Amino acid sequence: MMMRVKLFLILFNTLQCMTLVTGYRTRFGMKQYVEYQIGSVDSKLILTAPHGGSLSPTTMPNRTHGCFDNETEQCIYRHNCGTPTRSKCKVLMATDTNTRNLAILIADQIEAKTGKRPHVILNNLGRWKMDANRDADQAAFGVPETKRAYDEFHEFVNNAKLAISPSSGLLLDIHGVQSHPEAWVELGYRLTKSNLNKNTVLAEYSSIKNLAATSSYTFEQILRGDKSLGHFMLRENLSFNSRVVPSPDTPSPGSGGYYRGGYITKHHGSRYAGTIDAIQIESPRPLRDLLYNGDKAYAIDLANAVIGFLGVHY
Ligand SMILES: [Zn+2]
Repeated sequence: MMMRVKLFLILFNTLQCMTLVTGYRTRFGMKQYVEYQIGSVDSKLILTAPHGGSLSPTTMPNRTHGCFDNETEQCIYRHNCGTPTRSKCKVLMATDTNTRNLAILIADQIEAKTGKRPHVILNNLGRWKMDANRDADQAAFGVPETKRAYDEFHEFVNNAKLAISPSSGLLLDIHGVQSHPEAWVELGYRLTKSNLNKNTVLAEYSSIKNLAATSSYTFEQILRGDKSLGHFMLRENLSFNSRVVPSPDTPSPGSGGYYRGGYITKHHGSRYAGTIDAIQIESPRPLRDLLYNGDKAYAIDLANAVIGFLGVHY
């Protein structure tokens, strides 16, 4: 009974925050820290942007590095944990610039071309306040207001997944790589650089496990062959002749910089359960910087590539 009352209250609070924007409904969490632009009923796509926010409420302490606990040999992410240590418990605070508007632009493009608007979930808080792509402790440092925003972000992602399932679907987690000199687009499937390099990749350890298990194509085709997202991106002739890894042209990162996908890709993809696959997209700075000049070329290319990939697999 208690559970039901609680559920009703959550629902009531959520409904109160529902606002009609343009063409799609938007649900906001507390103080609009996080935002869910609800997609079309028949959309199979979710876009998340956890590192593109800029809100900096003074009521919320800035995140710091964690403290290292010598007894358990683990990091403690609390503001009163002692002396923060960057070397052992480093916490990243930098914004993935232009990724919030990139996610929205991709959604706009896909809606314009297919009539189906993807679900979009945005963290509007600066990463120095809350990091939606980390586990709860590192994300929110146990601060109740921060933790609530974090929970609302992931609740919105779960709502979007529920709207698509039991059909299969795809979540794309939109990021911006900060410092890798290759300046290529990195697609993260939770597979390690070493496994990609040694060709020892296994579908069951990937964040697209469900797609691999149900597809008539081989995992290699889907991951970095002629049916891969990398293939569809290359077909768009990205600006600056940007490379994409993994893709048919660059099947593995070699010694280059590469992110395999973080918390969202790991926990919201199909590796452990469910029918929603996930891929992390790390876009290099030159492609994201186009948006400072109002140049939507990269957003359009990415949208076209995603439409191609979705058309084959979902
Ligand atoms: Zn990021």
